[in-house]
Amino acid sequence: VAEYYYTQLIQVVKVALPPGLLARSQRRIRLKPDNIENPSPSPSPLAGRGAREIENPNPQKGSRASGVEAFLSHAASSILQLLQAGKTGDYTWKYLQQQLSKKHRITPTPARRGLQELIRRGLVESYLEEQRPPQPQLKQAVSLTGYRHSPDLTSRQRELLKFLGQHDGDLWVDDFVEIYNTTRETIQRLEEKGCVVIEEREILRLESSPVVESDRSKSLTESQTQALATITNLSNFAQVLLHGVTGSGKTEVYLQAIAPLLEQGKSALVLVPEIGLTPQLTDRFRARFGNKVCVYHSALSDGERYDTWRQMLTGEPQVLIGTRSAVFAPLPKLGLIILDEEHDSSFKQDQPVPTYHARNVATWRAELENCPLVLGSATPSLDTWVTINQGSRENNFSNPSPLSPPPSPSHYLSLPERIQSRPLPPVEVVDMRQELREGNRSIFSRSLKEALQQLQEREQQGILFIHRRGHSTFVSCRTCGYVIECPNCDVSLAYHHTQERAPELLRCHYCNFVSAHPSNCPECSSPYLKFFGSGTQRVVQELEKEFPQLRPLRFDSDTTRTKGAHRTLLTRFVNREFDLLVGTQMLTKGLDIPQVTLVGIVAADGLLHFPDYRASERAFQTLIQVAGRSGRGDDPGRVILQTYTPEHPVIQAARTHDYQSFTEAELQQRATLNYPPYGRLILFKLSSLEETAVQETAELLANELEKNEPNDSTSSYEILGPAPANIMRVANRYRWQILLKLPLDSTVTLPDFNYLRELCPSSVSLTIDVDPLNM
Ligand code: ADP
Ligand code: ZN
Ligand code: ZN
Repeated sequence: VAEYYYTQLIQVVKVALPPGLLARSQRRIRLKPDNIENPSPSPSPLAGRGAREIENPNPQKGSRASGVEAFLSHAASSILQLLQAGKTGDYTWKYLQQQLSKKHRITPTPARRGLQELIRRGLVESYLEEQRPPQPQLKQAVSLTGYRHSPDLTSRQRELLKFLGQHDGDLWVDDFVEIYNTTRETIQRLEEKGCVVIEEREILRLESSPVVESDRSKSLTESQTQALATITNLSNFAQVLLHGVTGSGKTEVYLQAIAPLLEQGKSALVLVPEIGLTPQLTDRFRARFGNKVCVYHSALSDGERYDTWRQMLTGEPQVLIGTRSAVFAPLPKLGLIILDEEHDSSFKQDQPVPTYHARNVATWRAELENCPLVLGSATPSLDTWVTINQGSRENNFSNPSPLSPPPSPSHYLSLPERIQSRPLPPVEVVDMRQELREGNRSIFSRSLKEALQQLQEREQQGILFIHRRGHSTFVSCRTCGYVIECPNCDVSLAYHHTQERAPELLRCHYCNFVSAHPSNCPECSSPYLKFFGSGTQRVVQELEKEFPQLRPLRFDSDTTRTKGAHRTLLTRFVNREFDLLVGTQMLTKGLDIPQVTLVGIVAADGLLHFPDYRASERAFQTLIQVAGRSGRGDDPGRVILQTYTPEHPVIQAARTHDYQSFTEAELQQRATLNYPPYGRLILFKLSSLEETAVQETAELLANELEKNEPNDSTSSYEILGPAPANIMRVANRYRWQILLKLPLDSTVTLPDFNYLRELCPSSVSLTIDVDPLNM
């Protein structure tokens, strides 16, 4: 198992390298020279076409295009049109793809086919262009030398030297010129006389930090003090679980644990699940540590990423806050690693390869650097829960296998109460079946409606949690029952409609396919299409109907796509430009907004029903985290949880915020079935454009694994599958999988990774996911 991990992790080194160290090239597309002189008339735009037509485009009927171009597919003619509209007829493929998707609603697969068609017909060519790696950014600085009493200085020159002296004898040339209204030539003459030197210095392009008010350490509560003492006393490797209920002040403990490290010249790494949660958190770190704080995430520009690396290589003590790949950051003298919201599944990368879990890598890294690792959460993952409990129990290994590592030193720290003994918000569970029986057909229960009404009267703010973005999760025909599906994937298309006059769209949440919403059923032409399942857009629409004075703000991946959007939207919400934040999963991650007193969970059921052994754990974590956004300030909070299955154990546990009993019950189930954390899983994922090839290969590999399986019980494994993946086809690729279930202390030797890969024909790709989270 370790070797499987290792084979893949070698590639991580490449992933983690800054762009400047990798030779990079990008694909460009240009018109063949004889095509530039002969532009064709633009084809008609593609208004109102259905999904099928986009997939199998017809030649442009009625267009004035002549000759060979009249027979191009829609994608191909759109590419040609874009190229011909430009001055040079030469664009990057990336840009063309963006334009195709934005202007013509053409998704990557047909776009690629269109391009191939154009190349085949000799109309365009594609070539690779070397990209210049980012360079350090240099800037000229002027500084005083010791020699400044040259007899032939003019009085103006003497004056300038005096001014420079007032800045500790050191300024950027640009600033000097501007502040003292002088010229570069004047400064150069001073240099010739030996009074100043002009030199190039590097400036680091770090993500510009917004101005934050500085902030001092808070005096800690008793449990915070205890937790901090334990952490600061650790000087070697150890795993620490900081289990603090939502709003218990975990972040304050992190801050105070880091402060003394920086003074000792050491650095700290803080890993967070997603960038959506980082603006608030980074602000809190910047308020405490100023420009010693850097961030590292996927939205940085190449220059920023490059310079963040150079900043780390300076060796100065610093705090790096980053998402999962930051676990590889080359920080100098690492003194502490913190993984906040450690239960969050975005710490796991399952594609592209290499697959890894930042928590595992962080553990290894902490061990290598011999520093403590702090895992923080209000709802620790069952994996961590078991690891910590085993580690803190002494010598409790009945039959240690030679291969499994000895339990590492671990500590369990608990912050059982909110700051200032604020209560956790009570959770009211509403049975939506009962609502229906009593004649309420709205998506809001009477209780939630009343709460929304009160919110307005009391001028407080609230959060509504919805499982899905978009308007409706699927569209179906009331006459024949037909459900509109994605042409590329085995999933239904979601209906999106943002504004009165905006186009009605159907969108695939897996491959991003978009088509216009048909007005009639594509199967039977019936006009009676009905929407099912509410997404964020639908909830906002309903709110606008029922509570016209409430100002809702949609907060999901549709509205936060652009850089900085999370920060902008949250700031506007905090400034009370809105009353209600309506959003998805994103809301669950660490928001700390004291004015929020109401949290409504519109339908908890969508969280519960996943064909996955982790479904309950994940649902429980999400519910507790969403609930935890309520009542974090002076006003007490409340939570209204709407569901069609109030008796479900997850709902019952969430109702009482009962982590302990939920965890015990869940662990018992896992143990019976040998699921993690009491067993290990390895998922073999196969995919191909060819349906039969992938199935045959899956069977072949399963056979191979079966042949390999040893007979003695301690090292054997169980093979589940081969079986089609839950959603068998995504973006036109057919997906099959084989799941291996191994005992924790298994000593089995699995077939060589490369050997298995060689068994696959070239049309089938194989990924091996050790300890998979998504199946
Ligand atoms: P958690 O990360 O556990 O959800 P936070 O660290 O966000 O909790 O703390 C919740 C709120 O309490 C924050 O606004 C924080 O500034 C405040 N806080 C934390 N510790 C203290 C303390 N010792 N005294 C006063 N306020 C505190
Ligand atoms: Zn129909
Ligand atoms: Zn799709």
